[in-house]
Amino acid sequence: PNSTTTANRQSLTCKTKTTDKRDRATVEQDIDPRTGMVLFKMLNRGIFDDINGCISTGKEANVYHATKDDGQEFAVKVYKTPVPGFKDGNRRIQRDYCFRRGYLKHNPRQMPKTWAENEMMNLMMLKAAGTRCPTPIFLRQNVLVMEFVGKSGRAAPCLKDANLSEAKMRECYVQMVMVMRILYQKCNLVHGDLSEYNILYYEGSLHIIDVSQSVDLDHPLALYFLRLDCIHVSDFFENNGVGVRPIHELLDFIVD
Ligand code: ATP
Ligand code: MN
Repeated sequence: PNSTTTANRQSLTCKTKTTDKRDRATVEQDIDPRTGMVLFKMLNRGIFDDINGCISTGKEANVYHATKDDGQEFAVKVYKTPVPGFKDGNRRIQRDYCFRRGYLKHNPRQMPKTWAENEMMNLMMLKAAGTRCPTPIFLRQNVLVMEFVGKSGRAAPCLKDANLSEAKMRECYVQMVMVMRILYQKCNLVHGDLSEYNILYYEGSLHIIDVSQSVDLDHPLALYFLRLDCIHVSDFFENNGVGVRPIHELLDFIVD
């Protein structure tokens, strides 16, 4: 099995167009052998033809840009095992781990796969409800391939980096509130990590991402998470000169 792993890793590296040696080292380091195998099989099956490098490295996931020879672009989100972050006291990992789906029965090694599955299902629900978000394309183990939000290898900026006029910000606030309401009313979901970082601004509208940790309304802390989402969203828009509704009014609007 060792030689197979090395072969796969090499194929993957060959496909990786990073010029900087350090970049390449990071990409390689972060892909464990099992994930390497999953990505290799995806390449082999023609889900995509190239992995061009990393868009983002997070504690729980890395996102890579991939392309097909016909130019079609993908975001490939690879979920990592939660144990390091969990031990480091990462509050979100602990929260997920403890509350999300029954704590003791859960094997941390399965968490990345579960997150990938959640993200896929939640994105499908968001899409079905008419919300803008990446279309999920292919799921295997801890790797989710989805539509790339952006163009020519350039990912759309998150809302924080979008540099919008005050008028446009106000429009986005209204969009944001409507998204939270649709999520709640139509998808029976609370995002749970909504902020200016998990919203991409593309072609004049908001695209919601990072829904792997979103919770169903029957989750005991759903309303608590919804309140936090509202606070984070309101704070951001308020700091950007938008006159926002008080939190309790916002909550009423979303849940009514
Ligand atoms: P988690 O918090 O679950 O560990 P994360 O925050 O690392 O995940 P995401 O928020 O889903 O992961 O994505 C991280 C970054 O990758 C985003 O801010 C965005 O820049 C980029 N990204 C993610 N999905 C896409 C996509 N479909 N198209 C373009 N860029 C994306
Ligand atoms: Mn994120």
